[in-house]
Amino acid sequence: GQDPRIARISSAIRVIPNFPKPGIMFQDITTLLLDTKAFKDTIDLFVERYRDKNISVVAGIEARGFIFGPPIALAIGAKFVPMRKPNKLPGEVISEEYSLEYGTDKMEMHVGAVQPGERALVIDDLIATGGTLSAAIKLLERVGVHVVECACVIELPELKGRERLVDKSLFVLVNAA
Ligand code: AMP
Repeated sequence: GQDPRIARISSAIRVIPNFPKPGIMFQDITTLLLDTKAFKDTIDLFVERYRDKNISVVAGIEARGFIFGPPIALAIGAKFVPMRKPNKLPGEVISEEYSLEYGTDKMEMHVGAVQPGERALVIDDLIATGGTLSAAIKLLERVGVHVVECACVIELPELKGRERLVDKSLFVLVNAA
């Protein structure tokens, strides 16, 4: 059966219809952060999975990967690397463009934050189409990092984002409609 902690995590996530635009069911993790047990269980579930996987990098995607990534990184003894929106990082960056529903966006990472041969976990709050996680994987692989797995709190399985990650495995705690 399913880990009993999952049901509480799932019910702590608030769903707000039609945000930020009509038709989107926004999965709001800020209410999960208010439930001290559910938030801790979320971090613990990831830590239990990744603590013995020889991971030296937790790459967190802006913005909500910055909430879940650092406590996981600290607990497993890995460094935390922010994957940011364009023109936010002050140092030299490597960047990857990716497509959105309308237009494109860019993700950036500091040059020198990671070394070839390192083993990374990529973390975000949610996978929808998988475009964001794919860009993060590409960025890390371009600099010779091995992406061990991607992890999210929530998956929207109907959007089939998992298929876009091709050969990379994806671990999620909760499925949402
Ligand atoms: P995608 O690139 O399509 O997989 O979209 C994933 C990114 O968009 C993540 O960083 C999510 O935080 C955000 N996102 C997409 N859809 C939703 C949603 N329904 N609720 C909350 N966040 C979302």
